[in-house]
Amino acid sequence: TSPLLQVKHLRVEFPTRHGTLLALDDVSFEIQAGEILGVVGESGAGKSLTGAAIIGLLEPPGRIAGGEILLEGERIDRLPHEAMRRIRGRRIGAIFQDPLTSLNPLYTVGRQLIETIQTHLPMNHAQARQRAIQLLRDTGIPAAEARIDHYPHQFSGGMRQRVVIALALAAEPQLIVADEPTTALDVSIQAQIISLLKRLCKEKGAAVMLITHDMGVIAETCDRVAVMYAGRMVEIGPVHDVIHQPAHPYTVGLMGSIPSIEDDRERLSQIEGSMPRLNAIPPGCAFHPRCPQAFERCRRERPELADTGRTRAACWLHVEPQRRVA
Ligand code: SF4
Ligand code: MG
Repeated sequence: TSPLLQVKHLRVEFPTRHGTLLALDDVSFEIQAGEILGVVGESGAGKSLTGAAIIGLLEPPGRIAGGEILLEGERIDRLPHEAMRRIRGRRIGAIFQDPLTSLNPLYTVGRQLIETIQTHLPMNHAQARQRAIQLLRDTGIPAAEARIDHYPHQFSGGMRQRVVIALALAAEPQLIVADEPTTALDVSIQAQIISLLKRLCKEKGAAVMLITHDMGVIAETCDRVAVMYAGRMVEIGPVHDVIHQPAHPYTVGLMGSIPSIEDDRERLSQIEGSMPRLNAIPPGCAFHPRCPQAFERCRRERPELADTGRTRAACWLHVEPQRRVA
């Protein structure tokens, strides 16, 4: 059977007055039904863009300029607006950093849940309301029968994100794209929300693409993890292997970084320098100016993702292991 989601050689461009910026270049990966794939990297690496491309919400002038996105073997990257809107919600749910972007402040959460349910599932109003209450219960909202008639502003940030999770799961999608779902929340409730998301998705059999810069979240939550750098995927593999035996020097640095919990600037303390801007991506391996292991070939030729035994990594060291310095 084909994977739930396949992203093949995805290329996203932003035309600007000064030329075209290549924001995602040759990004390829798969998500299997029911699995949780973490996508990690610094701010600007292309994590959110990858998620936005999948759910069909790339902000103009950004556009898919190449590659394919397939859901259960069917192309979804060139669908008309309306068809994509039906897929979003029914087959792919989305959770964003700020719960307020997903909720309409003018409507009760019940109305929003019921509308979503009725848009996608054959239920009358009473059935949809019952389902909405059950969804709020599932997400741990106390007194769901009463809270369903409250407005978003009557919920705390953490409770609002629970409502958004309920909304994302309302039509039993096969895939949830969650982009930094806890970054805007108090540190004290971040872990609760992540474990809720993980538990509900596992229970309901939904796969998750979890975009985050928090390695702690990745370690606790994900089955596999993909590492992005400068609009490219540099390593992907089982979470245990990527964390404990990373093959790419960038991942090595990433795993060595211990972000303070108050610091959400997505900084990587172990790696000197910063990620290049999209208009100045170095030739060859985009990481070479920061890489402690770089050699001549890295500056000239771009490495592709290749098997390293445990993970797949885009690094010449796996082609020329003799170059490795201790
Ligand atoms: Fe470093 Fe070269 Fe590997 Fe890039 S290809 S990560 S520069 S060793
Ligand atoms: Mg982002």
